[in-house]
Amino acid sequence: MSKITDIFKHKEKTFSFELFPPKTEQGYQNLLVTIEKLCALKPDFISCTYGAGGGSRDKTFEISQHLQEKHNVPSLAHLTCVLNTKEEIKNILENIQSRGIQNILALRGDPPQDNPDWQPGPENFQYSSELCAFAREHFGDYFGIGVAGFPEGHLLCPNKDKDAQYLKTKIDAGADFVITQLFFNNDDYFSYAQRLRALGVTARIIPGILPITNYKGLVNFTKLCGATVSDEVKQIFEPIQDDKEATLQAGIQFAVRQSRVLLDGGAPGLHFYSLNKVSPVDRILAEIRK
Ligand SMILES: Cc1cc2nc3c(=O)[nH]c(=O)nc-3n(C[C@H](O)[C@H](O)[C@H](O)COP(=O)(O)OP(=O)(O)OC[C@H]3O[C@@H](n4cnc5c(N)ncnc54)[C@H](O)[C@@H]3O)c2cc1C
Repeated sequence: MSKITDIFKHKEKTFSFELFPPKTEQGYQNLLVTIEKLCALKPDFISCTYGAGGGSRDKTFEISQHLQEKHNVPSLAHLTCVLNTKEEIKNILENIQSRGIQNILALRGDPPQDNPDWQPGPENFQYSSELCAFAREHFGDYFGIGVAGFPEGHLLCPNKDKDAQYLKTKIDAGADFVITQLFFNNDDYFSYAQRLRALGVTARIIPGILPITNYKGLVNFTKLCGATVSDEVKQIFEPIQDDKEATLQAGIQFAVRQSRVLLDGGAPGLHFYSLNKVSPVDRILAEIRK
């Protein structure tokens, strides 16, 4: 099964999706059907998120393994290091390796709501760059390693130049590529890429795209993750927020427009936050692949 970095060698632009592990068995069964349909869209890879809480963590790897073994689609397993000791992370990486998964998105994660004041000790990692270095030290080139990037700066690091420096630290520690936080103003992406290039980062910076299907939900979610709801998004979606169908159509149009500008401007592909749904990602992809 391919490493994503090998795909990069022969593909200028990749199209990929993100999934998350459902909380219930029924949700999991539904996801298997969704996966079948998403794989039929021939993505270059599919990623699966990792819950800081614990319960769904094994599901991340189960889903990642399923994608590869049943559908022959390379998977990217997210992995956070918050709360875990280095020894535990080594065991988890061995588990991932034993399943034949060769790509990880190395993340720090956030302390969970029931333990918000957790602080790393010497037995833990403080930043995701340390997780990247650890994976390289113990597993050599086995893993292709992606990391998270924040075009608007990370919530805890509003200084964008500093945040870009920290991103470079992740690359210097062994990361191969970047997937970004969702954003709606493409200028944020292009200036982020410029900041990183100026620091000598040559790795692919793949934009994360969230198709808008629920405006109120979006406003709440962006408060948590630190992305800005742009004036353009407000103007389009606020007046139609109670009309589901109008929101869906406008969401598709917006994502198609955003994607085209990104690709035309040199973005090396797109990573869609599918929210475990086939539509509207299928319709957006059909438009931009035309
Ligand atoms: C594409 C993507 C996928 C994600 N998937 C998941 C997921 O599956 N599960 C999950 O729980 N969360 C996920 N997240 C959220 C992520 O875990 C949080 O945003 C978290 O707060 C930061 O993780 P990180 O890996 O960027 O951390 P880090 O890279 O460690 O950065 C954390 C903070 O520390 C700062 N920093 C970094 N290095 C240094 C340093 N050397 N000195 C001082 N400050 C430093 C950074 O600027 C930032 O403010 C995802 C985010 C993105 C963008």
